[in-house]
Amino acid sequence: MERKKLVAGNWKMNGTFAHLPEIRAIAAGAADSRAVDVALCLPATLIDRAVRAVPGLPIGGQDVHAAANGAHTGCISSAMLLDAGASLTIVGHSERREAQHESDADVRAKAEAALAAGLRVILCVGESLEVRERGEAVAAVSSQLDASLPPAINHPEDFAVAYEPIWAIGTGKVPTTADIGEMHSALRERLVQAYGEKGQGVRILYGGSVKASNAAEIFAVPDVDGALVGGASLTAEDFLPIVVAAAG
Ligand code: PEP
Repeated sequence: MERKKLVAGNWKMNGTFAHLPEIRAIAAGAADSRAVDVALCLPATLIDRAVRAVPGLPIGGQDVHAAANGAHTGCISSAMLLDAGASLTIVGHSERREAQHESDADVRAKAEAALAAGLRVILCVGESLEVRERGEAVAAVSSQLDASLPPAINHPEDFAVAYEPIWAIGTGKVPTTADIGEMHSALRERLVQAYGEKGQGVRILYGGSVKASNAAEIFAVPDVDGALVGGASLTAEDFLPIVVAAAG
C-alpha cells in the first residue's frame, strides 16, 4: 500500500519566541515538498505563536494527558492542545516513559484520548541497548506496541507509530538498515493484527539520529514511512534535507 511519508520534528525542551524565524524557514521549505507530510512537535509554550506564524505547517505537542481536565498540575489535555492550534501530538516518547515512568497502559490511554479528541497521534516504541544486545529487540518492541496501541483507529492516516531504539536517540548511532527493516515489518504485522486492513495504512516512522547523511538510506527501507527527528529538526538547514530525502 502507498503511504505518504511523514517527517516530524520533535523539538523536545528547546525553543522560545526567538526561534520563530527558524520555524518560518522550516515551513517555507516544507511547502516546497508537497509529496511529504511535515510537522513540528514543539514545546507547549510555543504552539500558539507557531500556529499563527506558520498556518500551513501542522504543529503538534510532545505529550498529552489522558484525562479531559482535572487536578493534574503541569499537564495538558487534548482539548488544550487543540485550543492552542495543535493538530497532532507525540505520545510514549522513551524520554517520558523513562523519566516520567509512563507505562504502556498510560501511553495507550493517552493515544486513545488524543485520537478521540481529534488530534493525530505519533506513538513511540523502542528497545534499550541491553534488550537489543540480548537479541530480544523485535519481541520486546512488538509486545510494547501491542500493549500501547489504542483499541481502535478510525482513520489510519491520523495515527503513526515511531520506532525509536532508545540507544539511537541523540547518540549518532543508528541500527543497520536490515535491523530497521526487520523491526518495521514486525510492527506492520502487529498493526494488521490489531486493526485489520486499516493497519496497512498506519505510517511507521523511524527515529533515532536521523540526519541528512543517513536519511535517504533509511527511507529506502521497506515499511519505513518517514521519520521522527530530534536534534536535526531544530534548524531548517539540518531538517529540510531530510524532508527532501523523504520526497525521494
Ligand atoms: C527523538 O528524540 O525523537 C529523536 C529521534 O532524537 P534524535 O533525532 O536527536 O536522535
